[in-house]
Amino acid sequence: MSENNPENQKSEEKEDSEVKEAETEETIETEKEVKTKFTFKCTRCDECCMSRGPIPITFWDLEMWAKNGVVANFMPYLDIYQKPDGTIDLILKPLVPVKEGEGETTPKDPFDSIPIEELLEVKCPLYNKDDKKCLIYDNRPLSCRTYPLEFDGKNFIVVDADCPGIGEEGMTKEDLAEMRETAKRMHYELTRMRIALPVLNQIVSTNFMKMLMKQQMEAMSKMSDDDKAKLDEIFKKQAETNEHDHEHEL
Ligand code: SF4
Ligand code: SF4
Repeated sequence: MSENNPENQKSEEKEDSEVKEAETEETIETEKEVKTKFTFKCTRCDECCMSRGPIPITFWDLEMWAKNGVVANFMPYLDIYQKPDGTIDLILKPLVPVKEGEGETTPKDPFDSIPIEELLEVKCPLYNKDDKKCLIYDNRPLSCRTYPLEFDGKNFIVVDADCPGIGEEGMTKEDLAEMRETAKRMHYELTRMRIALPVLNQIVSTNFMKMLMKQQMEAMSKMSDDDKAKLDEIFKKQAETNEHDHEHEL
């Protein structure tokens, strides 16, 4: 489900030749084809929506959703994902796969605690499999608009060698320029988010802890002497139990 934006028509052929595939033999083969001439037209097969895993969300998406008044609709599906390389992304969290014996219509819990690593290749939470359509197409994230083309700051990369849209005829020079521009925009927006997220996370957690401590101190100050004595007793018993457990471990 890819779509594009305009601009930058200089050195078309040079940039075409920069479009490249990564890593596997299969993708390197595709790279040769892509280098010759990259053409793409989404066939709307929806395979990407069925198996993309976490979809990175950027400030561009948040701003678009705020402008369209739909941010709240996305809240249950947003999560933070720390990748193995340490980068932290805001993502659309994929749906928990249907377990054996459960019907396809079993409601899914978006807050399910299954590790995101186990959800890397599952369905986007906003894809309706029965109707075969994106539930938020007009508000779909930038990442979906540029798929399967990405820009890494230097080169364009086709991230899904199996996307059936690759090689489809019908792409104009304007379409290609627009697709490249969207990929560049995605790279820029993702970088902004990756810089901001750890900082915001740190500030929010620090303030949250301060607020909790303040609430706790206020609650303590309102307690009667009897309640305080009871609380001390609970803490004392807990400390004795911990000490006892520790001796057993030794
Ligand atoms: S896998 Fe490719 S062709 Fe299929 S919907 Fe996604 S972008 Fe379009
Ligand atoms: S948001 Fe829409 S276009 Fe993007 S992966 Fe989900 S269903 Fe597909």
